[in-house]
Amino acid sequence: MDLDYLIRKMEKYADEKGIPIMEKDGINFLSEFVKLNKIKNILEIGSAIGYSAINMALASNDVNITTIERDKDRYIEAVKNIKSAKLDHRITLVLADALDFNTDEKFDLIFIDAAKSQYLKFFNKFSNNLKPKGYVVTDNIKFHGLAFSDKSKLSRNLRQLLTKLENYVNFLNNNKDFKTRFFDIGDGIAISRRRKDKDEENIS
Ligand code: SAH
Ligand code: MG
Repeated sequence: MDLDYLIRKMEKYADEKGIPIMEKDGINFLSEFVKLNKIKNILEIGSAIGYSAINMALASNDVNITTIERDKDRYIEAVKNIKSAKLDHRITLVLADALDFNTDEKFDLIFIDAAKSQYLKFFNKFSNNLKPKGYVVTDNIKFHGLAFSDKSKLSRNLRQLLTKLENYVNFLNNNKDFKTRFFDIGDGIAISRRRKDKDEENIS
């Protein structure tokens, strides 16, 4: 299947089914980041239908991705899409809750794009799987513009979720081991990199 067509089909499918795949400028930014930083292997938390995984894999032929999804229907859809894109030799899909998934592999990039209430848990669990100079990228930091807004009009559930997301942002800002930059792209993207020593804090 023609790749552009497949990608457009996935965008339409996600739109119709209300599946929160990355926004166009967000995925373009991430793909460019993968290319520029010569990322070779990626762990993605939250595959949905495989949209971001396929796009990142297309950034370079050297990219291999392991991606985890807990929703069976989305997982099945992702398997289909990745096969159609002929990327099944470079993208490994795992049907599991990410918090139950363990691997010894070390990655150049860990992409967190699953339940926002669990961002902190994902970060702490999977930073062990990061190479010394690897990156953790987190999506939806702005939470559709809701983050750091007036919460009084929101439902209790939404308020709790927002508080968790704010806690996560604060955690990143105060983290002694990682340096984080926030990008106002798509729904807000954070890029964190382990501080090796004080002279190496810059993220290229
Ligand atoms: N990265 C995708 C979008 C992911 S949407 C893209 O841009 O194309 C978030 C997905 O994370 C949802 O499909 C949801 O089912 C999944 N998810 C949420 N919490 C999870 C968890 N703890 N483990 C695995 N998957 C999870
Ligand atoms: Mg997202």
